Amino acid sequence: MSYVDEVFDMVVEKNPAQPEFHQAVKEVLDSLRIVIEENEEAYRKDALLERLVTPERQLLFRVPWVDDKGQVHVNNAFRVQFNSAIGPYKGGLRLHPSVNLGIIKFLGFEQIFKNSLTGLPIGGGKGGSDFDPKGKSDREVMAFCQSFMTELNKYIGADTDVPAGDIGTGAREIGYMFGQYKRIRGVYEGVLTGKGLSYGGSLARTEATGYGLLYLTEEMLKCNGHDIAGKTVAVSGSGNVAIYATQKAQQLGAKVVTVSDSTGWIYDPEGIDVALLKEVKEVKRARLTEYAANRPSAEYHEGKGVWTVKVDIALPCATQNELHLEDAKALVANGVIAVAEGANMPTTLEATEYLLENGVLFAPGKAANAGGVATSALEMSQNSERLSWTFEEVDSKLKGIMVNIFHNMDDAAKKYGKEGNYVVGANIAGFLKVVDAMTAQGIV
Ligand code: NDP
Repeated sequence: MSYVDEVFDMVVEKNPAQPEFHQAVKEVLDSLRIVIEENEEAYRKDALLERLVTPERQLLFRVPWVDDKGQVHVNNAFRVQFNSAIGPYKGGLRLHPSVNLGIIKFLGFEQIFKNSLTGLPIGGGKGGSDFDPKGKSDREVMAFCQSFMTELNKYIGADTDVPAGDIGTGAREIGYMFGQYKRIRGVYEGVLTGKGLSYGGSLARTEATGYGLLYLTEEMLKCNGHDIAGKTVAVSGSGNVAIYATQKAQQLGAKVVTVSDSTGWIYDPEGIDVALLKEVKEVKRARLTEYAANRPSAEYHEGKGVWTVKVDIALPCATQNELHLEDAKALVANGVIAVAEGANMPTTLEATEYLLENGVLFAPGKAANAGGVATSALEMSQNSERLSWTFEEVDSKLKGIMVNIFHNMDDAAKKYGKEGNYVVGANIAGFLKVVDAMTAQGIV
């Protein structure tokens, strides 16, 4: 049996009931076969793949907190410190009822390669809890965040592990967590990114993942003979990534005609009104029915359906496994040119294969959504320097990083005879740097 298959079987056996983690490992290892087979003897001897798929440290803890009626609740929480070969652990904190150890491990594993691709010195980690901030009062969210940080603070720090936002963790949650860290540890340091501007946050961090997704998509289209201006786009989700992806797509001259949330989706043939979407989602924290109620050109549909709309570009920006084989078939039948992942692993393995087989330009999340973590690393630099850069400065660095990521994955794909396969390209480019650092640092 090949080394890749052996290690994949070991992952399934040692990590039962973690299908998302298995899926992420399979996607990465399969696309690394060419590189691994070239170096099989050395990698085997060093158990390199076994070390790569096993987190350096996994923290599991309970988070007790009291609701507004005096009732105590207990949530499960996680921090997986996956790989620190190229820098301190870095990756977001997800607060969503679906969170479990397998999901955090899949996200942490992906994060290793994504962070490596940015070219910045950050290792891979991820964390979160099955707490659901939706429908909670600000005081309840604060109670949860303070209790969560009371435990987590023992394991993180500006030079060891620097968490950030993710689904359910926005500016409000980061603020409460930062306050509690500072109170307990008594140090004012850049231990979290995605902070507010008044206490060490970076301009353009809020926009970074969505903007970065569009910078990379624009470059991918350009290098394949297309212009983004004038294209029609389907976006899924209506959170941080979706909102700023929509905004940047429209600034670049494209028209975004859909957004969604966990209950329904909007079709707006006039183009999504970003100011209204922000008002509904960021200010009122309301459902998309509220968008439709205030926008005569918009149709609201219950359930799923954004991928049935005829578009040139699809940007899944909600969550994992939200674009299935039947969605990929519908997109291809409607003539889609490109799919770029704003979310982490939104496209299933079968759907990804179908898109690639049908000549669709496909940018995997670990490259396409790396703008968020890249800008988080820029926030870390500003915190270390005790300086703040202008919006334009950060945005132009972000653009440079995204264009560079595209060319790194494009070059790696070409070098290994897989031209145009950016899944293989991104994995190989991210992997080689991490492996080089792991090898240099010995058996740790
Ligand atoms: P938000 O919480 O701001 O938004 C998430 C959006 O996706 C919401 O519209 C939400 O709908 C929808 N959604 C979440 N879970 C589900 C689900 N199970 N089914 C259907 N819809 C769902 O998160 P972000 O925008 O920050 O993150 C979106 C994706 O991008 C995630 O995969 C995240 O890991 C990834 N990402 C985020 C980065 C960042 O900087 N924020 C960086 C890199 C990747 P509802 O409001 O109804 O829950």
